[in-house]
Amino acid sequence: MKATVCKVYQDFEAAPAGAILPAYRGDQISSLMMKCPGCGQVSGLQIRPHQDPGNPNSWEMSGWPDEVTLTPSVHHSFGCGWHGWLKNGKWKSV
Ligand SMILES: [Zn+2]
Repeated sequence: MKATVCKVYQDFEAAPAGAILPAYRGDQISSLMMKCPGCGQVSGLQIRPHQDPGNPNSWEMSGWPDEVTLTPSVHHSFGCGWHGWLKNGKWKSV
């Protein structure tokens, strides 16, 4: 499933499951909003080194914007249970 990279919230809102929307701190991406590839529910991912002190989870990101890759995997553990990887702009479940 392709990760639709959105620039503004309106596009993200209208985009299919798997879409991502960056939030910036200065000129760096500090977090991504994503629509779960499994169920479409929206959640946020902290992008290193912009970790949230209250949240132990963060992701290393490369390849922005056309070949986005996140490490480690993404697990919708408190939702639909979808678990997989975003690699080179595409979501793949494990
Ligand atoms: Zn889900």
